[in-house]
Amino acid sequence: MSSALASTNAKSTHALPSYLNAVDLGPWGIYLQQVERVTPYLGSLSRWVETLKRPKRSLVVDVPIELDNGTMAHFEGYRVQHNTSRGPGKGGVRFHQDVTLSEVMALSAWMSVKNAAVNLPFGGAKGGIRVDPKTLSRGELERLTRRYTSEIGIIIGPTKDIPAPDVNTNEQIMAWMMDTYSMNEGATVSGVVTGKPIALGGSLGRREATGRGVFTVGQEAAQHIGLDITKARIAVQGFGNVGGIAAKLFALVGATVIAVQDHSGTVYKSSGLDVYTLLKHVNEHGSVKGFAPAQTLPDSQFWGVDCDILIPAALEQQITAANANQIKARMVIEGANGPTTPEADDILHERGILVVPDVIANAGGVTVSYFEWVQDFSSFFWSEDEINARLVRIMREAFAAIWQVADEHRVSLRTATFIVACSRILQARELRGLYP
Ligand code: GLU
Repeated sequence: MSSALASTNAKSTHALPSYLNAVDLGPWGIYLQQVERVTPYLGSLSRWVETLKRPKRSLVVDVPIELDNGTMAHFEGYRVQHNTSRGPGKGGVRFHQDVTLSEVMALSAWMSVKNAAVNLPFGGAKGGIRVDPKTLSRGELERLTRRYTSEIGIIIGPTKDIPAPDVNTNEQIMAWMMDTYSMNEGATVSGVVTGKPIALGGSLGRREATGRGVFTVGQEAAQHIGLDITKARIAVQGFGNVGGIAAKLFALVGATVIAVQDHSGTVYKSSGLDVYTLLKHVNEHGSVKGFAPAQTLPDSQFWGVDCDILIPAALEQQITAANANQIKARMVIEGANGPTTPEADDILHERGILVVPDVIANAGGVTVSYFEWVQDFSSFFWSEDEINARLVRIMREAFAAIWQVADEHRVSLRTATFIVACSRILQARELRGLYP
């Protein structure tokens, strides 16, 4: 058994400061707890650790729009730049009815860690609007996106902070963001956002990149624990840009996808779902609901399905103390950001289930965002093969380095990723020094 898997989180239970109440931490509290866990490993750099415990800059904006029926609606928007020690802020924008400032703070901090873990020259940022985009018409969505972009325009920019897609945002929304920023600047600034349509300076391979990264680290991790992915049984939560693509790539090498859960319910087939037909169904109907060639399971039964690999690729705090004991998988690959609570992390660890954490598992998206940004700056575009090859190389190298740190310190992969990433961030912080 590998030591990253076998080692218990020896330092994970050390006393937490009183402001970290374990009962309901929320995403920001969970992130702070993760920083607490890594601090003993930071050596002299721990002098700077407070930097990681607060965002550099948080902006809350009012986003008013006129609805199609002539009435006004106001939405709350956010852009948080957690850290810019290693480069401009970088991270997505999500549109979701439950978005809060503290959630965006946590997501921005995880971007700092993620970008440093794969050694991209970026800090971490994230944005969001508290809105259910499904309730808006296309015109309303465009007005919302444009007004939000204009409001956060005072802090974003191609050398300052570069947004990208996240939950419920896509290439079209990036196109509107790019256009709005460009209109205000008086010049086309394609490098202000990534995840754009190809016709506007987007990168080949960006749409699939997060799923491809999940698949790549899954392959690497499986090798370490002696799991043959061509025979693996897989369960996926979230069947969008991340879960859907990852499922497709696993199925391509022969793995069997047995269960998929999304916001509409859970579909299950013990002999394997046809991933292509399911993707088509989701494309046409918007969710897995009504997928006839499968059985429907009560949502609560999803976590206990008999699989080897579990891929949470939806939202935060899905694997909790309440369901971690039901999980039968040998490994969990976190496609989503923050899907596992610290208590669940410990339970999985004690049960010998390997968790490949979000901050490395889903870094493929931002890695190809980096390629897009570089291509936009040089106005020279690469082939898809070149992009995928570079992506796979970066993910493999980052994963190998993290595995080694996990082995060395006998810590979980999450703590190891935080050790690598936080050391890089704080080293940059120290070298730059405090201004003034
Ligand atoms: N939203 C994605 C993430 O959470 C991608 C961010 C980006 O490409 O900047 O990693």
